[in-house]
Amino acid sequence: MDRMDWTRPNWHCDSGPADTSADAALVYDDDVKAETDHLYERVKDVILPDEWPLHAPLIAAINRLKKERGTIILAHNYMTPEIFNCVGDLSGDSLALARMAADVEEDIIVQAGVHFMAETAKIMCPDKTVLIPDMRAGCSLAESITGEDVAAIKAKYPDYPIVTYVNTSAAVKAEADVCCTSGNAVQVVEWAAKEWGTDTVILIPDEFLARNVAANTDIRILTWKGACEVHERFTAEDVEALREGHPGVVVLTHPESPVDVVRAADYAGSTAGMAAWVKNNRPAKVVLLTECSMSDNVAVENPGVKFVRPCNLCPHMKRITLQNIYDALRYNRHEVEVDETTAARARISIQRMLDLPKPDSPAQFDKDRAPVEVELV
Ligand code: SF4
Repeated sequence: MDRMDWTRPNWHCDSGPADTSADAALVYDDDVKAETDHLYERVKDVILPDEWPLHAPLIAAINRLKKERGTIILAHNYMTPEIFNCVGDLSGDSLALARMAADVEEDIIVQAGVHFMAETAKIMCPDKTVLIPDMRAGCSLAESITGEDVAAIKAKYPDYPIVTYVNTSAAVKAEADVCCTSGNAVQVVEWAAKEWGTDTVILIPDEFLARNVAANTDIRILTWKGACEVHERFTAEDVEALREGHPGVVVLTHPESPVDVVRAADYAGSTAGMAAWVKNNRPAKVVLLTECSMSDNVAVENPGVKFVRPCNLCPHMKRITLQNIYDALRYNRHEVEVDETTAARARISIQRMLDLPKPDSPAQFDKDRAPVEVELV
């Protein structure tokens, strides 16, 4: 079994000893203020003025180090706003980051996100150094399935293509046939069915995504009992309570949530889909049933929209901080490696997804389509 075990000694890397002489230089002085005032202007609605002097010295130091070292920071939407908006160079959801990783020119990539994202960057850019600021930044979904599990599924169902969510380890991607994200899962499933000449596709490991995809396609779906610990916890009762407590609120949800949550919401789509929906529709009052930082980051782009904030924190994403990004840049840690045999096979799965036509806009899940039965493999 190659399940991630966060307590394993070689996995449990912390940020290492602090460099007090360097940290002593990280103060909020006039130079740092001048360097960062334009960034605070961007995030002033989501970061308190009293908090900014704590972030600004690290932000200035990180942005200087990036230039000196030829480094780029890929930042996922679930990063806190001071990371996403003030040090991230390329930002987006899993699909966007996978596409961007393939085109990065810099020699060093720092992944401000979780481990499977850093692995994806390494797979797509094998000659580059890929760093993750905290090796413990994992994912409940990625941890739910192993490469051996996928090999066993393949042996049991040799005629059906295996589509794996990108939120999986390199070993799982290597055993699968093609990757997908929540933004293109229906498109990938339908492509795989046609390509393999079958009416059945195995979509792993997120059971809820699979159920929501099954309701949006005529392809029969088999799946695995994995879940995102952030999105699985929302309930249809939460949606009802929100509507009662905040009349007129528009409820957006993610297809990693249970089917009845998707059906109770006004819109269901990927992280990029939710951000685009708010930008295009500018609702007076909205709630994003997703990871907490997402609302902050979408709010930065949409002043004037009121965000109601019940949300769930992802403890894995929240392991990434300005301090450990700074340490990653200073000390070149922690380097993510994927063995070349695994990487070569995983690259095929990712590249098949990237080669599909890029949709004009992120896919929307039709919340009114009736649920259909989905079998577990
Ligand atoms: S939000 Fe969910 S899918 Fe994303 S890293 Fe956290 S647990 Fe994994």
